[in-house]
Amino acid sequence: MSRAPIADGHGHTNPVRGVGAARIARRFKEAGGWFQALVALSPWHYALEFRGYDSYVELIDIHIRECKAAEDEGLKVACIAGFHPADVDHLIDRYHMKPVEVLKLGLRVVDYVAKLCSEGVLDGIGEVGRQHYKTMPERVVIANLILERALEHARDNGCVVHMHLENAGTDTVDLTSMAVDRVGVGGEMRSRIFFHHVKPVMAARAYELGYSSTIPGLARILEYAFTRLDPVYIVESDYIDDPARPGAVVYPWEMASTQQRLASKGLASEEYLYRINVDNVVKVYGIEPP
Ligand SMILES: [Zn+2]
Ligand SMILES: [Zn+2]
Repeated sequence: MSRAPIADGHGHTNPVRGVGAARIARRFKEAGGWFQALVALSPWHYALEFRGYDSYVELIDIHIRECKAAEDEGLKVACIAGFHPADVDHLIDRYHMKPVEVLKLGLRVVDYVAKLCSEGVLDGIGEVGRQHYKTMPERVVIANLILERALEHARDNGCVVHMHLENAGTDTVDLTSMAVDRVGVGGEMRSRIFFHHVKPVMAARAYELGYSSTIPGLARILEYAFTRLDPVYIVESDYIDDPARPGAVVYPWEMASTQQRLASKGLASEEYLYRINVDNVVKVYGIEPP
């Protein structure tokens, strides 16, 4: 059994519909977990009555309490909130907002999150990015403009950014990198920008260009990454803690045991696990190793 502490590079908790951060943290810790980047969900996932901007402020409050609850269980946490690209569609389709109103709301939410980052209340902005499914072109433009605002805050305040993007392989990485260059995020700061939920080939490209990435903690993906990639990424559960929305996610504790199992089969060395689970986390988030 591997002794490397395990990090979850991107996951969600839901104290309203799911079991919440404290129970998840306890179970993850028992399985060898030491760190989780906890990313806020959208207002409707917390069953909040939708009141525009105020609902986002409210959910960010809930999320900050969730991060504290996980910390109280002894986990290190990076606490992240944003404006998910799917929110653009949901707000137009479900709440009949005008596209330009959605853009204004998204920019305001991202500005608020960045302010909390600069105050040390939050650690990063996410998810922001582009829809991973087909939608109206103007909605992709809106999502991309909100992403660019988040990148400006990364440049100005050193916020970490978790990007949720379409899955066009290395083209997605290259196209997004051009947006980052236009905003002017260079050097060390680029490593604080994450391509989240990417294929191993995209993780390798992201690293080449100076970015960070998280890959899904599924056995078949990890098997590929462990044997073919340098340890230049972090593994994520993308667990959403919502029994009504089961999907392509993995429990954080399963993600931990999968890594340990693959290591015991000789697919990854102890040093490799340490690099992806500790070194890469410590470097980007500026926290003490366990
Ligand atoms: Zn995502
Ligand atoms: Zn996510």
